[in-house]
Amino acid sequence: MALGSVGDARLQKEIEELERLFTIDTEKLKKITDHFGHELEKGLTVEGGSIPMNPTWVMSYPTGYETGTYLALDMGGTNLRVCQVTLTDAKSEFDIIQSKYRMPEELKTGDADELWEYIADCLIQFIETHHGDTANIEKLPLGFTFSYPATQNYIDAGILQRWTKGFNIDGVEGQNVVPMFEAALKRRGAPIKLTALINDTTGTLIASAYTDPKMKIGCIFGTGCNAAYMENCGSIPKLAHYNLPPDTPMAINCEWGAFDNEHQVLPRTPYDTAIDRESPRPGQQAFEKMIAGLYLGELFRLVLVDLADNHQVHIFQGQSIGALRKAYSLDSSFLSAIEEDPDKDNLSETADLFQSKLGIRPSKDELKLVRRTAELIGTRAARLSACGVAAISRKKGYKTCHVGADGSVFNKYPHFKSRGAVALREILDWPDKSDPKEEDPIEILAAEDGSGVGAALIAALTLERVKKGNM
Ligand code: BGC
Ligand code: MG
Repeated sequence: MALGSVGDARLQKEIEELERLFTIDTEKLKKITDHFGHELEKGLTVEGGSIPMNPTWVMSYPTGYETGTYLALDMGGTNLRVCQVTLTDAKSEFDIIQSKYRMPEELKTGDADELWEYIADCLIQFIETHHGDTANIEKLPLGFTFSYPATQNYIDAGILQRWTKGFNIDGVEGQNVVPMFEAALKRRGAPIKLTALINDTTGTLIASAYTDPKMKIGCIFGTGCNAAYMENCGSIPKLAHYNLPPDTPMAINCEWGAFDNEHQVLPRTPYDTAIDRESPRPGQQAFEKMIAGLYLGELFRLVLVDLADNHQVHIFQGQSIGALRKAYSLDSSFLSAIEEDPDKDNLSETADLFQSKLGIRPSKDELKLVRRTAELIGTRAARLSACGVAAISRKKGYKTCHVGADGSVFNKYPHFKSRGAVALREILDWPDKSDPKEEDPIEILAAEDGSGVGAALIAALTLERVKKGNM
């Protein structure tokens, strides 16, 4: 790219090899998108496929006129957040108060009781801080954003299919998580009633549609990655036994992180294979492991360790790379910082970062290799994510729409949006824009807060539906 080739011919060869491994051209993007389309269909059948395509029992878009006060609890991959959301009388407006709690690393691989106790404690702490009057808050409906694949036979239940995003807690997979969570609340004397269990993508879809009716897909590009969209029940063979009118809307949580678990189309590198092998769930979330924030830094680290150990060049020769050897020690913000280094000639910020974080002093050429590696990993992630968006749009026949996206990678990773937009243009054969300010027919835009406002809206829509006597 803009950096030009490096002086050291052997390093230059390694860079070219990395480019070959990580670059996905237009033709390949199109192939991946076609396969994606088939897998979306397959996931909706009784037999199913690798993408779960979970019905969520969110059965309408919001009108913008929803009202009321709701609690929302967001158990994400990194943070735990509790919100109180008030949907005001003014159309599409809301007020929110919220507190964030850290999701302690030990909890992610600890035991189930500790997880539920911790979540319940945070919820109660929130109530005590923001709401002296517990008697009143207990009546507030709660939307619980539980962002893992779950089978839902009802909107207020969810059987965890499998943990993702590095979570590995025994005794939860295959179980309905709602009674476990409610039991922990009860033990603390807070008989809060959960109204809806939701996925962050479904929340994102609904929250975004609340303020922008052109929003048709909700995506998360954060610690994990996934999307949700509104399907018609008539196109969901696995729901046929409910005998719902074919035009009944049903939001589908795709769980597209599982796309291509059978390794049919994704051009995986040896580094992708290594990530999968060392993960708590080998063979799962093949797509997610190439895109999501949890893995970008680790991919980068694996490339560098490989180039230091196993290749003729032996980068960082004569230096200790002990710190670099620690698995998952670099997160995607490390890559962001490298890609954002404004000093294109000397990459001085990158040099400082390597020195301070890893105790390594890369040569000038090595710095260029490092920067190019970050670009390649970040670009691949953005381009692959466009395949999912294109496949859903095509399946639904959306010629023009908005896609609401949230998550740390989407919001903070440099160029993620523009690289994704370029890939979408390539896949869908849009002509090059004569005016760069002109809108693309399908645009991926920053979403409204799905796990907070979206959860509240879904609780509101659920109560409304119950009131009308619909399922
Ligand atoms: C989970 C999804 C979630 C996504 C984004 C994935 O690992 O399986 O349920 O929507 O991460 O948070
Ligand atoms: Mg979240």
